[in-house]
Amino acid sequence: MPHLLDAFDTLPEWLAAQGQPAWRAKAIRRWLTAARAESFAAMTDLSKGLRAALEAEFQIWTTSIAKHTRADDGTEKLLLELHDGQRIECVLLREQGPGAEGAGARRTVCISSQVGCAMGCVFCASGLDGVVRNLTTGEIIEQLLRLQALLPADERLSHIVVMGMGEPLANLDRLLPALATAQDPDGLGISQRRITISTVGLPPAIDRLAVEHPVYNLAVSLHAADDELRTRLVPVNKAIGLAEVMAAADRYWEASGRRLTFEYVLLGKLNDSPEHAHSLVSLLGGRAALVNVIPYNSVAGLPFEEPTQTDRERFLDILREAGVNVHVRRRKGARIDAACGQLRRLAVTAS
Ligand code: SAH
Repeated sequence: MPHLLDAFDTLPEWLAAQGQPAWRAKAIRRWLTAARAESFAAMTDLSKGLRAALEAEFQIWTTSIAKHTRADDGTEKLLLELHDGQRIECVLLREQGPGAEGAGARRTVCISSQVGCAMGCVFCASGLDGVVRNLTTGEIIEQLLRLQALLPADERLSHIVVMGMGEPLANLDRLLPALATAQDPDGLGISQRRITISTVGLPPAIDRLAVEHPVYNLAVSLHAADDELRTRLVPVNKAIGLAEVMAAADRYWEASGRRLTFEYVLLGKLNDSPEHAHSLVSLLGGRAALVNVIPYNSVAGLPFEEPTQTDRERFLDILREAGVNVHVRRRKGARIDAACGQLRRLAVTAS
């Protein structure tokens, strides 16, 4: 049965064939996104006949919640089982502190773009078994709706980071329509300025995004500032090289006018020395970029260490003293294995 969240493009045509006005497609989409309807029965302004026809033709949900965990800091993580038994993860991150509730509160979701990942970054849980398949547009939208359903009625999703499982730039054809749905002002209404796509750095796909949709924030995962080390950590670098990645990032910056983010996972005794920090400073060469430093989240079975506090602080100090804009990603939901790919692996190991 077709997935309705994957059929928004063809819905007007289907409605016309039912003798219905095409604008009802918008109304149905609004029911699912802004109004959080969970079934056709809830779409009370549609005729009973139309609801029955929709019910017979489409399914709204293709995933089931295999596991739902909630951490003390309000982070919630869903392990979703797809129609073919594959599993993906998505996470809701809540801003904490006084006034951080109700309308206007920051509610960020981290979503997956693929089952598994082909990039093979050696420290990452998602790619340990390679890529299984791309997610469909509907499966990407379904993650947003499942996470939105965790919020009280007066709160809405405010930000999206495509930083879950998979390489989003290897699945742009399905991701872009899902992000367009996320922005619909009559639907989830998430501004494009609040959507970030994180990539290992695939220059042709970055260029495509720069030409077609230079509207999102781009985060490029560097993890090393020289080719020898980066190729060890991020094997796809071998065929690409840092110079190409940086040049593509610059072209995206020129096209979008949005400040670039570079991600750097800090791995104890591997890429966290003062020399590594200096080499990152020189690679950045005065670009007005933000560096997002992510202390490594250990993955069971992998031989990497978290950086010590001293090494981490020294690394950050060198960047800051050189005038680099640095942000350290706070650990959220560490106790529920909220780092990408971890919950899926635990579930795989346990079953
Ligand atoms: N494939 C994309 C997006 C998914 S990964 C990319 O490479 O950017 C999102 C970020 O989490 C990447 O920077 C990735 O390197 C990082 N990451 C993966 N595993 C991690 C771990 N165990 N600890 C900390 N960061 C990790």
